[in-house]
Amino acid sequence: MSSHPPATTDVFADAIKNLDHAFQYTKLHEEGLERLKHPKMVIEVSVPVRMDDGSMRVFKGYRVRHDDTRGPGKGGIRYHPDVDISEVKALAFWMTCKCAVMNLPYGGAKGGICVNPKELSNMELERLSRGFIRRIADFIGPEIDVPAPDVYTNAMIMGWMMDEFSNLVGRHTPAVITGKPIALGGSQGRSEATGRGGYYCLKEMEAIHSWNPREVTVAIQGFGNAGQAVARLLHNDGYKIVAVSDSKGGIYSEEGFHVQSLINAKNNRRTLDAVYCKEGVCEMLDAEEISNAELLELDVDLLIPAALENVITAKNAGRVRAKNILELANGPITSEAGETLHKNGTFVIPDILANAGGVTVSYFEWVQNKAGWYWTEEEVNEKLKAKMQDEFRAVYHRSQEHGIDMRTAAYAHALERIGDAFSAQGTVDYFRSPN
Ligand code: NAD
Repeated sequence: MSSHPPATTDVFADAIKNLDHAFQYTKLHEEGLERLKHPKMVIEVSVPVRMDDGSMRVFKGYRVRHDDTRGPGKGGIRYHPDVDISEVKALAFWMTCKCAVMNLPYGGAKGGICVNPKELSNMELERLSRGFIRRIADFIGPEIDVPAPDVYTNAMIMGWMMDEFSNLVGRHTPAVITGKPIALGGSQGRSEATGRGGYYCLKEMEAIHSWNPREVTVAIQGFGNAGQAVARLLHNDGYKIVAVSDSKGGIYSEEGFHVQSLINAKNNRRTLDAVYCKEGVCEMLDAEEISNAELLELDVDLLIPAALENVITAKNAGRVRAKNILELANGPITSEAGETLHKNGTFVIPDILANAGGVTVSYFEWVQNKAGWYWTEEEVNEKLKAKMQDEFRAVYHRSQEHGIDMRTAAYAHALERIGDAFSAQGTVDYFRSPN
C-alpha cells in the first residue's frame, strides 16, 4: 500500500488546522496566529547530477524556513519520490511547533529532494547531496538554519553535506548540520534519539496507567531509524512487539518478535524476516504476512506509526482498534481522523512531542559543536530523559486541566512560547498605545 497522501491532500493546509483549534487555549495574540500560517521563506532548487553512466539527471529540491523568531531554523532533509512543496511546508511548520514544545532555541525548517534514493548508486547519492548543499548554502548556517536527517537520509549524507558547506565557506563548520557521524562531530545517542524520546513518553504513560509491559502488545509501522530504536527499547522492557512493517509490507506474530534479530535481518539482508537468533544460531519463526493497511487496524494495545504522514485518515480511523497511539512519524494522522480517534477514546501522543527526541539531541549536538566539548552517551540520554519527562508532564497536565486531547494541549503549549517571542517584538496593542 502507499501510505503517502493522495495528490488532492494539501498536507500543509491540513497541518495548520491544529493552530485554530489550539488557539482558544492560549494567550497567543491573533497576529501570531496569522504569522504562523505563512512560512517565512520557501526555496525551490534544481540539482543537476552526473550519473555513473555519463548521463545527466536534474532533481528538484526544496528548503522551507517556516519561522525563526525563537532561533535559527531547524529541520531535516528528506529524500523521497513523493516529496512536494506542501509536504515540506507542513514538515517545517511541525518543526516550529516541536522546537517550541521542547523549549529549544530554534524555529522550524525542513528540506527535501524529490528522488528515490534506492535507485541511485552511492556515488550518485553523494553528488546529489553535495549539489543540493551548493544550491541552498546561502540560506543555511549554524545561526541561520540547521538541517538534519529525515526519511531516507542518514549520518553519512549529513557528513557529506557538512563537508561541502565547510569547503564553500572555507572553514570547518560542524554546527551547520546535525545527525552527523560521530567521527565528524556527531553526538553520542543521536542515531536512536527519536525512538528513545518516544520511549520516554511511553514510560510516562506506563506510570500513569500502571501498565505491565508483558501484557502490552505493540504494532510498529515503519522499521527504519525511529521504528527500530523504539522497538528495541520496548522489547528490552518486556513489551510484546507483535507486528512490524516497512515499505514492502509487514509481518505479524501473536507470540511477539525477538526485536534485535529482526533489526539484524532488516539491516544486513534488507528484508523483514521473522527470525530468532541466539549465540549466532538463527531460526526462522512462523509469522503471518500482513499489509501496512492491516497493521494499522490490528487489535493491539499500542500502535506506533513510524513511517510517513497521512496513514490514518477519515477512511480508516474508525477501524483503528489500538487504544493508544505514539506518533513517531510526522503527521501520520489527518486532522479529521484525529477527531474520530478522540471520540473513540484513543489516547494519542502527538508527533510534535512523541518524536521530539530527535531534534532535542540534534540541539545537544549543535551545542557540543559550538562549544567544542563532547558529552558521553549517558550524559546525552540523561539530559534527553529529563527534557522529555518535563515537557510530557507539562503537556499532560495542560490536557487534564482543560479536558482536551494531548495534541491540542501540545500545540497550546508550543503556541504560548512562540506567542511570548512574538509579543516581545510588539503587537498592535504596544504600537497603538498612547506613549
Ligand atoms: P527511515 O528512512 O530510517 O525509515 C523509514 C521506514 O519507513 C523504513 O523502514 C521504510 O521502509 C518505511 N516506509 C517507507 N514507506 C513506507 C510505507 N509506505 N509504508 C510503511 N512503511 C514505509 O526514516 P526515519 O528517520 O525512521 O523517519 C520515520 C518517520 O519519523 C518520518 O515521519 C520522519 O519524519 C520521522 N522523524 C524522524 C526523525 C529522525 O531523527 N530520523 C526525527 C523526527 C521524526
